[in-house]
Amino acid sequence: MFIAHDETGGNVTASEAVKNRKYFCPVCLERVVLKSGNVKTPHFSHHRIVDCIRHLYKKESLAHLSAKHELYLSLNKNHTAAMEYYLPEIEQIPDLLVGKRAIEIQYSPISPMLIIERSKGYRTLGMDVIWVLDETALRINGPHVIPTHFQLSTQFHHALFTYQDRNRQLKKWTLHHHIGTGRWLFHVEGMDAEALMLDHEVMTRQMHQMNRQDIKRLIQHERRQKSRLNPTLTYIYQLGLNPADLPKHLLYITESERWIMNSPLEWKLYLMFALERGSLTIEGFRHFIRLREIQGAPQSEQVIHRLLGDYKTLYNSQ
Ligand SMILES: [Zn+2]
Repeated sequence: MFIAHDETGGNVTASEAVKNRKYFCPVCLERVVLKSGNVKTPHFSHHRIVDCIRHLYKKESLAHLSAKHELYLSLNKNHTAAMEYYLPEIEQIPDLLVGKRAIEIQYSPISPMLIIERSKGYRTLGMDVIWVLDETALRINGPHVIPTHFQLSTQFHHALFTYQDRNRQLKKWTLHHHIGTGRWLFHVEGMDAEALMLDHEVMTRQMHQMNRQDIKRLIQHERRQKSRLNPTLTYIYQLGLNPADLPKHLLYITESERWIMNSPLEWKLYLMFALERGSLTIEGFRHFIRLREIQGAPQSEQVIHRLLGDYKTLYNSQ
């Protein structure tokens, strides 16, 4: 943390603070220690983070602190950014707050549920939040990015935002389509801190047609699961399909698929099979679909109905 109270109750930033004076946490009012000298970025720290009520302050690595400091300085050129501003109504302390936008630097992985909960907190105050991740923790494999569930849960208008401390580079990773096995097609661009204040509106994407390589990877992945009840392989077998020559409507990835974990083949095969047998129920389909935990995602009912609509469109257009 960078802001603490001094003995008179006034706010002091860590760079103004002086060794051997007493400083206090603005939230729990317990003593905090000034860390300066050997560290690159002076900051305050609780004796033990668990001492602070409700763990409002995050565990902050030095990388986290330096990212917060850099972004604060950059944003303050054109805006009035507040650092560590305590919002008592929701008991949250965004790293940075500029107008109605919170910026949260989240380098350590936390549960998607927590990301969703905290993002909701901001929304109840009419704010939104951009989560900034550690770029070095983002896994890239050739033309694909393979984000963890935690990273995915932070999506803001279909994009992930990262910071790289070494070169002070912010990046925006727009996630286009999930092509199965955790891989996403993406577009990455560098951006300056100022772009954190933009709307980042979503452009509607075309459907993506999977190529032979994509299909092969998916099938191989399912075979490696070694489960006799593997839905993809079971439906392909039961429907008498040839994995190397699947019906065309199974090969397209639609926009609504971003909200589910089922592979692009799996949920379409489920519908194809259930429709052929005349056994499709919304209830059954809902149980089959595994929703992702993403902040700001549409309601589950909406996703289910969009998927059904997508399948119908694909089926009718083949
Ligand atoms: Zn505290």
